[in-house]
Amino acid sequence: MNLIGEHTDYNGGPVLPIAIAARTTAAVGPGAPETLEIVSTRDGRPHHIQWKGDLPDHWGAYVAGVMRELWTLGVRLPQDGARVAVSSDVPVGAGLSSSAALTVATARALALLAGASLAPRQLAAVAYRAEHDHVGVKCGVMDQTIAALARPGHALLLECATLAHRHIPFRGRLLLVDTGVRRALGAGAYNERTRECRAALERLRVDLPELIWLAAWPAGWLARLKRALPEPLRSRAVHVVSETARTRYGAHLLARGRVGAFGRLLYESHESLRRLYECSTPELDLVVAAARRAGALGARLTGAGWGGAALVLVSSKRERGIAEHIRRAFARTYEREPEITTVRASGGARRERITASRRRASTA
Ligand code: ADP
Ligand code: MG
Repeated sequence: MNLIGEHTDYNGGPVLPIAIAARTTAAVGPGAPETLEIVSTRDGRPHHIQWKGDLPDHWGAYVAGVMRELWTLGVRLPQDGARVAVSSDVPVGAGLSSSAALTVATARALALLAGASLAPRQLAAVAYRAEHDHVGVKCGVMDQTIAALARPGHALLLECATLAHRHIPFRGRLLLVDTGVRRALGAGAYNERTRECRAALERLRVDLPELIWLAAWPAGWLARLKRALPEPLRSRAVHVVSETARTRYGAHLLARGRVGAFGRLLYESHESLRRLYECSTPELDLVVAAARRAGALGARLTGAGWGGAALVLVSSKRERGIAEHIRRAFARTYEREPEITTVRASGGARRERITASRRRASTA
């Protein structure tokens, strides 16, 4: 879940995600030659995949992609075969990146089975390429990176242009408020924004030929940026450049324990997403306004927008009161309740040995 840094990733700017506590577990063992035998609590029936051949049109494509990327890195499994059993409580398709949880967990487990010790960044790269290059999803690197690198009680400042990263202490309490609106129109609008950002970059390069990423435009030159761009490119670019500055400053504030000041940046971020990037919805705006009225430290949409969820930063004393206030305000307007869950910064992928019933586990 991204605390701040929305629509900065594909513009070469920073993001500041945390890992949530929901998780995906992958148990692995040796398998038949060149065969991947997989089963998941999500669909229950096993699949057999010749992973060096065509990719299947179900979730096995993610695991086959992981196998191929490990192979490319020289990680060899006995007879090139494996069996993988997956269980998960990460909601699918809710913007919480169940796909990254799946690829990072299987990459870690399969690498262990092969006796290879991959650094967390290598795991993230394997998982990213499995999804991006093999499955063909136009995703960024944030989800796999946080799933592989997260530390409990920390957010991760990740510079998407360089992949430089820093763990930032984060002990804030968060509510995740799901508006229940799925991003039906979102994909088209998302692609339109990426095109607009590219067009803005092209024009700004006339002024500053060495500009490689939109997010690299100096934040102190906003007046010049505004003169150079027509609408709507101007608004999109102002969001990207100011959100980049907010995200880096936000990490700086968190590192100094200034959670209140960080919260105010969340409100600013939402306002920028609503007015300049135009990716909010009335439901998300209502949640953020209700959070502000109830005295939350900060709130904003998270996960690109056009539906989905808002995050709300709260103090532990007021957590319940704020959740209640949001719930009531939402229900008054929409005659249904939003799903509200508490979220904390948790750890990333880790090894677990199955000790009890080991033989049964390995043959199940
Ligand atoms: P999300 O936002 O949850 O990442 P995606 O559409 O990117 O949504 O990924 C969801 C897909 O990932 C599912 O359709 C499925 O193919 C795969 N997936 C995720 N978790 C599991 C799981 N536990 N078992 C099997 N497949 C999974
Ligand atoms: Mg995904």
